[in-house]
Amino acid sequence: MEQTDNFLDDFHWLMDVLQNIDVGLVVLDENYTIQLWNSFMQNHSASRPEAILGCNLFDTFPELPEDWFTRKAQSVFMLKNAAFTTWEQRPYLFKFENYRPVTGIAEFMYQNSTIIPLKNTRGEVKHICIIVYDVTEVAVNRLQIKKANEKLRHISRTDGLTGLLNRKTWEYDATKEFKCFERNPFKCSLIMFDIDHFKKINDGYGHPAGDEVIRQTAKTVLEQIREIDIAGRYGGEEFCIIMRNTDSDGASIVAERIRKAIEALDVCYEQHKIKFTISLGIADLTKNEKNLTQFIDNADKALYKAKQSGRNNTVIFQAS
Ligand code: GH3
Ligand code: MG
Ligand code: MG
Repeated sequence: MEQTDNFLDDFHWLMDVLQNIDVGLVVLDENYTIQLWNSFMQNHSASRPEAILGCNLFDTFPELPEDWFTRKAQSVFMLKNAAFTTWEQRPYLFKFENYRPVTGIAEFMYQNSTIIPLKNTRGEVKHICIIVYDVTEVAVNRLQIKKANEKLRHISRTDGLTGLLNRKTWEYDATKEFKCFERNPFKCSLIMFDIDHFKKINDGYGHPAGDEVIRQTAKTVLEQIREIDIAGRYGGEEFCIIMRNTDSDGASIVAERIRKAIEALDVCYEQHKIKFTISLGIADLTKNEKNLTQFIDNADKALYKAKQSGRNNTVIFQAS
């Protein structure tokens, strides 16, 4: 008799532990009927055990991914081994609202979950237990770090004034392109351009007005090129664009489009309407160029010719 009392006492406080532990516990039978629904699950789902116990899991939570879950659960029943899923694979199993003030930025509770087999005294697995861990804080921190890293990477790669690639990154990306070409040549050309008489803009309207001209120039470039082209701010008011799968003839069409768009542009700064032009040089990438510098140099020579021949025009580099 005393032994039975002890057993019941033990069982009673064990149930207390299960109820009050800060993880979710759900016991299911082979038909996915809910046999245990502890306080954690009750508090977060706002569903009382009376309304849940004896019900089918998928009828009660239709948003649960039934196919995915049954595949996992079947392996636990058959192999008698635990199965795991992390928030990175699937942000949650049960969609619970996140109410923690510290991590209030998450709309829902991120969860890791484990499904463990529950053996009866004969060693058979007729029940499984889902253990649900609230990992919202870890997940939110991790996601914030990821976001911050992405932002830092963007800042380190781009030029603050224009949002184009900065010189270092442009050169890095252009070098990669050059190396691809060396291994397996393809059509590739480079447009290099410079704003005409830019010093006069700075002197006449002030440096901030000059900045706005540079910003609008970059915006115009982005409107005229394709996503696969590599555009960068090479220097103060000098820009470079690697044109992929495009020879100098194709590039000159794009170059002229950019030149005309800039010519037509009115940059409004304070009470001023600033008009300006650009000069452009184009070079083809050929087997003669031994490195990226030579490729850039050729485009720069063409640009110099464009400046010499009156500005606001496009010149293609000729090897002779
Ligand atoms: P050219 O037609 O021969 O190109 O004449 P230019 O006056 O444009 O001559 P150059 O290209 O040498 O002028 C570059 C000027 O750009 C000099 C420098 O003060 C100015 N500059 C460089 N970076 C910036 C910038 O970020 N903002 C502004 N406002 N000016 C810059
Ligand atoms: Mg200039
Ligand atoms: Mg210049």
